[in-house]
Amino acid sequence: SDNVRKPFVAGNWKMNGNLALVAEFNQKLAGLKAKAEVVVCAPSLLLHAFETDSFSIGTQNVSHLDNGAHTGELSVDLLKEAGCSYAIVGHSERREDQGESSELVALKAKKCVAAGIVPIICVGEPLDVREAGEVEAFVGEQLDALVDKMSIEELSKTVIAYEPIWAIGTGKTASPEQAQEVHEFIRTYFSKVDATLAQSLRILYGGSVKPDNAETLFAQKDVDGGLIGGASLKAEDFISICQAA
Ligand code: PGA
Repeated sequence: SDNVRKPFVAGNWKMNGNLALVAEFNQKLAGLKAKAEVVVCAPSLLLHAFETDSFSIGTQNVSHLDNGAHTGELSVDLLKEAGCSYAIVGHSERREDQGESSELVALKAKKCVAAGIVPIICVGEPLDVREAGEVEAFVGEQLDALVDKMSIEELSKTVIAYEPIWAIGTGKTASPEQAQEVHEFIRTYFSKVDATLAQSLRILYGGSVKPDNAETLFAQKDVDGGLIGGASLKAEDFISICQAA
């Protein structure tokens, strides 16, 4: 990052972890010293068990609807009450497994902002799109849906995560140059919406970030931190990634 934005590292436990892992994180992350803002996004049923002085907690999905007759959904109000200050929205696994559209992702992000929860909005292309040289068109369309539904003021209360799908859980990290290229595209995209927004917006990289590649990725001008999957399940690895930001 070019130092105008506070670095940010979020762990995405996905459908992993249990109370024992929460207890381990409570213990091992206590007193954590990092320049970055640190967030752990765990399965919602674990949120109540975190004791968080040195990091914040987030969820991995929210409903875009108000409390009411929506079986199986979790509202922003309830998540807020559970101590949640962040929410991942639009992760590629949900876009794929639950068929979430960019429009729905934008509605979820908007709902979060209204409730005072910061959405970590995920975008990113599959391999065939990269191979066809269409990354910017693809990611640009995902961003269009956000700009359609949200005001500049609302967008300024979000975090964006660029996660190339081919790099998620594969061990194939984007090179620092590949990451920077798309991050710069995203920042430039937002600069056409509002210059101040673009300057202050945190853009995280996600996809096989590990302790040994985090520092070089985070050193890129437009990479403000990371969204960490697999490596966020090991307290030691997660701590060292947090300290690399
Ligand atoms: P990974 O996952 O770090 O295991 O590649 C990242 C993510 O999906 O957020």
